[in-house]
Amino acid sequence: MNTGYVYDEIFLRHTMPGHPENHHRLEAIMQQLASTGVLERLAHIPARPATRAELERAHRPRYIETVRQMAERGGGYLDPDTYVTPDTFEVAVIAAGSTIEATSAVLNGIVRNAFALVRPPGHHALAEHGMGFCIFGNVALAALTARQVYGLERVVIVDFDVHHGNGTQALVAADPGICYISTHQFPHYPGSGAMHEIGSGVTRGNWINIPLAAGAGDRAFQLLYAGVVIPATRRFKPDLILVSAGYDAHHSDPLADLALSLAGYAWLARTLVALAEELCHGRIVFVLEGGYNLQVLAYGVLNTFYALLGDTTVVDPLGPSPRPERDIREYVAELRRLHHLDNQVQ
Ligand SMILES: [Zn+2]
Repeated sequence: MNTGYVYDEIFLRHTMPGHPENHHRLEAIMQQLASTGVLERLAHIPARPATRAELERAHRPRYIETVRQMAERGGGYLDPDTYVTPDTFEVAVIAAGSTIEATSAVLNGIVRNAFALVRPPGHHALAEHGMGFCIFGNVALAALTARQVYGLERVVIVDFDVHHGNGTQALVAADPGICYISTHQFPHYPGSGAMHEIGSGVTRGNWINIPLAAGAGDRAFQLLYAGVVIPATRRFKPDLILVSAGYDAHHSDPLADLALSLAGYAWLARTLVALAEELCHGRIVFVLEGGYNLQVLAYGVLNTFYALLGDTTVVDPLGPSPRPERDIREYVAELRRLHHLDNQVQ
């Protein structure tokens, strides 16, 4: 049993010059994986398009049709940030299908764990519209497929992209078997993800939103994972962990102001892989979201693969953030109280 990855050159075809979410992101990642010899240690999982039925687990037929027609007519914008080119519909459908395929490969025992290296990203996409560079909800679709097709009882989604995954949260809002845990800069795009958004009705308590002030970095994330993310995941007892892997919480990302280092990101990946080993037979799938410093993105994904492969190697040529971090221990305690994590046997 080994580590799998999904990648296809078709993901390069959705691109726009001057836009931060462009094809160079995946090129930088693939070049890094090839030059370090990591790529040849991985099992390739073939990309495939999502079926209409799969897309409709999360998206309205009318929206799917809107994207298809916009692409067919030469392209346009779903919001001021979210471009559609003549290739976008086909590429986005394959990004969604390939994320599902990577998840299937793990659930079918073909690989132990996997990383879906897909574009366009997905965690802002809503049932009826795309936004924030996202067309279809790749991770939400994989989670819903794991529940509805594979019959898993519980799935945990951990989202460490610097932005709140408003789309993922909305698309899984009706499913009591999915827990969504997000760390994100706040206030920041897209504006959702306040601490008190904890879900409602059958999913009350299933959302763990951890908004963070600018400057939060390695120390804050380690305290938050130890105090909140890890105990909340253990309590939910997942059969699968999905990770919305955005590398834009790094201190040198151009679009945001959190302060993780590459070593800090590597610690997150290693911690989540260890949690999957402890709780769900190692079943974990990372799915690419944001990350707009190409060097960070390439090394960040490389370190994540080292974690998936069980290697101890960590590459961090950029070093730690130069900014001092605020003490967040009081905040961790507040989150633990809110989510009733204190009266739990660990
Ligand atoms: Zn992001």
